[in-house]
Formats: sequence, C-alpha cells, structure tokens
Amino acid sequence: MNRVRMYINGNFVESGGKAWLPVYDPSTEEVIAEVPDSIAADVDLAVKAARAAFDQGAWPQTTPQDRGRLLFKLADVIRRQSAQLAELESRNTGKPIVEAEFDVTDTATCFEYYGGIATKIMGYVNPVPDNALSLSLREPVGVAGQIIPWNYPLLMAAWKLAPALAAGCTCVLKPAEQTPLTILELAGSFQEIGFPPGVINIVTGFGDTAGAPIVAHPDVDKVAFTGSAAVGKLILRSAADSIKRVALELGGKSPNIFFADSDFEAAVDGALFGVFINQGEVCSAGSRILVERSIYSKFVDAMVEKTRTIKLGPPLSRDTKMGPLVSKEQYERVRSYQEIGKGEARLVAGGGRLQSADRGYYVEPTIFADVNNNHRIAREEVFGPVAAVIPFEGETEAIRIANDTPYGLAAAVWSRDIFRALRVVKAVRAGIVWVNHMQPTYVEAPWGGYKQSGFGRELGPWGIEEYLETKQVHINLSEQPIGWY
Ligand code: NAP
Ligand code: MG
Repeated sequence: MNRVRMYINGNFVESGGKAWLPVYDPSTEEVIAEVPDSIAADVDLAVKAARAAFDQGAWPQTTPQDRGRLLFKLADVIRRQSAQLAELESRNTGKPIVEAEFDVTDTATCFEYYGGIATKIMGYVNPVPDNALSLSLREPVGVAGQIIPWNYPLLMAAWKLAPALAAGCTCVLKPAEQTPLTILELAGSFQEIGFPPGVINIVTGFGDTAGAPIVAHPDVDKVAFTGSAAVGKLILRSAADSIKRVALELGGKSPNIFFADSDFEAAVDGALFGVFINQGEVCSAGSRILVERSIYSKFVDAMVEKTRTIKLGPPLSRDTKMGPLVSKEQYERVRSYQEIGKGEARLVAGGGRLQSADRGYYVEPTIFADVNNNHRIAREEVFGPVAAVIPFEGETEAIRIANDTPYGLAAAVWSRDIFRALRVVKAVRAGIVWVNHMQPTYVEAPWGGYKQSGFGRELGPWGIEEYLETKQVHINLSEQPIGWY
C-alpha cells in the first residue's frame, strides 16, 4: 500500500496512534493511498513545533523580503510540478483534469501574490495630540490552525498558508480526510525551499479526532476554517474557551438571478456553469436559479437541452466536463437530495446515478423546476450538481427570494439594464456579487460571506489582515517628569 506520511516539524511521520486511513480514487472507488489517522497527541506535536518555530529559531528573524522570496520559490516549485500535482488532484477529488490544472495555476498565483504582499504590510503613525510619537505596528498573530475542505484541496491550502506565512505566522494545517495527497506532495519541497522546521505542519486525519484538537489547543492563536456551517458552529464554540481569533467560510445557497432582458444564451450557459462547475461541489454554487416569469419556461427548456450535452466521464480524460463526486458519503448525500427534490418539485433533468457508470461516485447533473424557496432543496446546501429553479415576478420579488436564506456567501444577477443590475447588487446580502457572470474568483479580490456563510475575508489585502495583530506603541518625546504628583 502507498503509505504517505504527514509532515510535522520538518519530518514525514506516522501517527503516534499507528493507525492509517484510506484515501480513494472516487472514479474507481479504489484505495490509492493511506495517510496517518492522527490523534490529539500528533496535533500536540505539530502545535508545539509551530509554537517553537514562531517563538524561537530562524523564522522570527526572517524579514518580509525573506518570507516573500520563500513564497515565490514555493510558487516556482508548484509551476514546475504542475502536471503531477494536477493529475494527483484530479485522481483524488474526481474533478476534471482541466479544472485541476486551473486550480494548480491559481495555487501558484496565490503564493506569488502573498509573496509580493509580504513587503507591503505597513504600520501607521497615529496623530496623537501630545509631544509623543504614536505608532501602530503590525505583527503576526502567532500559530495559525487551518482546517480545509475537499473541494479545492491544494487551492484552499494556499488560501490559508500563503497569507499566514507572508504575515510571519506558523501553521498547522489539516486537509480534509478525503483529499490530503497534493498538499503532502508539495510538503516534500518545503525544507529544500528553505522553510525552517515547524513553520508549516500538515496533520492528516478526521475532523473530530485531528481537527477538533487543533481548535481546542491553547497554543493555537487563530483558527481559519472552510467547510460546513454545522462544523463552523462547533469550531466557534470550542474557540470560545481560549478566546481564539476565528475566520469561517461556510458555504451557502447562492442565488443566480436572471431577468428577461439578459442575453439569453449567455444566461443559460451562466446558470449551468454557476451550479455544475466542479460537480457542483463549490461553496459559492449558484444552486438557486431565479428566473423571471416571462422567460421562465423557455429558460428551463434551454437549460435541460444543454445539460444533456454535459460530458460526464473519467476525471483524467481531457474532454470530461463532470467527474464523480468526491466520496461515497458525498454521493449518498447528493443522491438523498435528488430523492428529496422529487417529492418537492418537478424533476426536469437527471435525478439519479449516472446509469452508464458501473463504478465510481457519478451522479447525473440534476435540475428541479417550479421549486418553492421554502423547499428543502432551496434551503439546504447540497454541495453537488443539483439545481433548484425558482420563478419570480419582477425585481422586488427577486430580491426578496434571493435574501430569504440563512446564508450570504455569493449571488449573481443577469440583466442588460445597468440600473436594475446595480440596484440588485446593492440589495443582495452577500459577500460576493457577480453581474452577468458567476464564479470567477481572483486572489486580488476579497472572498467571504455575510450571515451564516461566516465571517472574515480571505484573499487580497483582506486575507493578510486575518493573520495580523496591531500593536500600539507610544514613545514619549518630552524629557520632563509627568508632574502629576
Ligand atoms: P466539514 O465536515 O465541514 O469538513 C470541513 C473540514 O473540517 C474537514 O477538514 C473536516 O474533517 C473538518 N472537521 C470536521 N469536524 C470537525 C470538528 N469537529 N472540529 C474541527 N474540524 C472538523 O465538511 P465535509 O464533511 O467535508 O462536507 C459536508 C458538507 O460541508 C458538504 O456537503 C457541504 O455542504 C459543506 N462544505 C462546504 C465547503 C465550503 O467551501 N464552504 C466545502 C466542503 C464542504 P473531515 O475531513 O474529517 O470531515
Ligand atoms: Mg467530513
């Protein structure tokens, strides 16, 4: 068996508990590797290493330039190994190879962006009304605990590691139990690039046995989490015990809103792209498709027609547009929502397992029409290729339905009327709003949600703020006694 060890304090190690967990290829359902099934004692070693690296040794002595250069070197390694990394990502997640290649490029770009930003972290001179110099210094927050999901494994690792390292933090990162392989592959280069031991630690394992101890650990200063709202709530509660700083990115039930005056073909295309890209396993998926009544039936028909042309197949095949879901658990979850939907609304496309696949976690891209926004398929995050199409009458109703959700991660609006599009942009309660597009994401622009989609912002200059403390320094310039007593 291909046993891939995890990375703690500069070494590839097994778990102290000696157990291993299987990692699958979801297109064949075969085990392709095993990684350590970590326990709290392993997390403790990783946190101790990160603590020591933050408090002593070479890392606190690095300049912003040094840290920036390390991140550029890491980006170079990723670009050089991009073919292997993309193939491994595709095999482990089931995502089409072409999408995995985009992810790997975005991963390198993310490290480059924060490599550049490392030298642009600036303090402030506070204009205090005294004979004094008052400064605000920016300092790294300390040891960052980082817990990520399985939908964009390497890219999510970069979104967490890059700003933390640029800021001067040290990291303990737990990949999702399903998808630990690409970040462990990359860890093979950390030492050679020049990261001191303990600066980056990758701990594999399950959420309750390896994730929870990171959040609870008293020596972790900050927790950054991307995943489900249910786990986000557990993390927030646990972090309260030691008053940790927390950032949460918790997914959503994002509306993709189509007015009758939008370009019809671009709109239909955008509706499908918004909800089916990456098998629909996207936190910002446009899973509620709101369509103005006057084009509604034509729009639904066109979506159904075009969905028939989506090519499902093996992830490594270059013409595959949709691969299997990431795991058996996720397959069963999505299958159950397909059945729930059948009891609530009108099934117009897909609705089951991909019949032609004799193995692998393949489900059909599925569309429900005539969905009511109160239906479970309109309220609960499916995290798979299941679209809920909801008709609306006019702008006011569109906005009301769009905002009638506990989530607020993303939204999109399609219209050629700039006034209307911008009114909707302002009225929608979401952290990311696209106009006449859905899903493009840039490392230069902020990412994060309103409401129960979490708080904190990743990417751009906002991303690094999450890993910085502010220290106020007051320097007295008067040599006189205070003269109070
Ligand atoms: P999840 O359970 O929220 O997992 C996300 C990460 O948190 C994983 O690394 C997970 O470990 C870890 N975790 C789980 N329980 C934890 C705990 N008590 N303390 C600390 N860490 C913990 O998500 P999932 O199981 O992968 O998927 C379930 C649902 O989450 C999906 O169907 C979807 O609705 C949502 N989701 C959202 C996003 C997003 O980008 N917002 C991404 C993925 C999933 P394990 O790997 O062991 O679970
Ligand atoms: Mg899980």
